[in-house]
Amino acid sequence: MEKIKMTTPLVEMDGDEMTRILWKYIKDELLLPYIDLKTDYYDLGLEHRNETDDQVTVDSALATKKYGVAVKCATITPNAARVEEYNLKEMWKSPNGTIRAILDGTVFRAPIVVKGIEPCVKNWKKPITIARHAYGDVYKGVEMKIPGAGKVELVYTAEDGSVEKELVHEFRGAGIVQGTHNINASIESFARSCFNYALDTKQDLWFATKDTISKKYDHTFKDIFREIYDAEYAQRFEEAGIEYFYTLIDDAVARVMKSEGGYIWACKNYDGDVMSDMISSAFGSLAMMTSVLVSPEGYFEYEAAHGTVQRHYYKYLNGEETSTNSVATIFAWTGALRKRGELDQIPELMAFADRLEAATLKTIEDGKMTKDLALITSLEHVTVLNSLDFIKAIRETMDAMA
Ligand code: NAP
Ligand code: MG
Repeated sequence: MEKIKMTTPLVEMDGDEMTRILWKYIKDELLLPYIDLKTDYYDLGLEHRNETDDQVTVDSALATKKYGVAVKCATITPNAARVEEYNLKEMWKSPNGTIRAILDGTVFRAPIVVKGIEPCVKNWKKPITIARHAYGDVYKGVEMKIPGAGKVELVYTAEDGSVEKELVHEFRGAGIVQGTHNINASIESFARSCFNYALDTKQDLWFATKDTISKKYDHTFKDIFREIYDAEYAQRFEEAGIEYFYTLIDDAVARVMKSEGGYIWACKNYDGDVMSDMISSAFGSLAMMTSVLVSPEGYFEYEAAHGTVQRHYYKYLNGEETSTNSVATIFAWTGALRKRGELDQIPELMAFADRLEAATLKTIEDGKMTKDLALITSLEHVTVLNSLDFIKAIRETMDAMA
């Protein structure tokens, strides 16, 4: 069979530990035999980040701006232990943080739904995608402990020196206070990323805040979404047959529980932090979760939602057998390949991505899976495979499907 040709390279960001091992297995078994793979390769493995003073991370993000689509392997975010383990010059910043700062994007996370791994919420039939705003609010909050009686005020001093004040509270005794902020430009790019992703995946978009109580702060989020929707997206949503739906956060939570799924739920920073953990654990496993960073300009970076699976990597280094789930990393590749195919109009590449995803799910539904899934599946006759054999089993399924 002739290999599928690509016209534009994918930006390939290699990573660390067990996921770096899976990365190679996936390429060797599932991609290179079928595709004339064109990539612009960046080694974001911690050693190479250290050698390049982390310039490689910046370069890979800039390449994503040039080509539009990237696929990223999980990477170590160094802490003190890693500085010692890898003899690092510095405690380099989180690559995801660096890339996100350059692309200015929103991260969308969606569970990969497969028969045999049932969500805890029994009426959820389709994935629920969480879009979390990644700037500000309590994550950039400033706080004070108030020791005793006294007045706390918010003070805004404009560049021209004029001052505006708002009383927070007249304390009669000890208490606490917190100041949080956000920026219109960041909320605007969050809104555009959400609307673009909804159009891209043809799913309804839900957004919720507490605007009835927070009449200026949360209300601004609501207003910005509404203004951008009306001005730039209303007609395109109608044409695509999808809906933008705003409601209060408590109403949204109640509706999510009763829904079938199949929509994007845009959340403010804190709501997204909390709700994405609820959604992912209710759907089964972090290893069955896709994650894509979408920039307001329409750049895409696909990755797995989990980390480098360090514990498995040390077993692997010891020559012990591992059973690490590669599904999320495979879906990072298929997401990126499908997007590349769409942008470059290569239907065979899009069809290949569909086929590889279908083969991955069928392999699991046929009872062949890694240990993490075997522990939670409702299927009865299950074969637990090691990391490489699971990937080989997917290849067999895919070849049989062709
Ligand atoms: P992790 O790599 O997500 O793994 C935590 C545990 O979850 C594993 O020990 C394993 O449990 C289970 N697990 C996660 N992914 C799995 C998979 N694909 N298959 C099977 N089991 C899986 O988190 P971590 O160990 O806390 O972090 C390790 C490194 O990853 C850290 O250096 C961190 O900085 C980095 N990290 C990177 C990213 C990213 O690049 N996007 C995200 C998060 C963390 P058992 O051991 O019980 O089998
Ligand atoms: Mg969290």
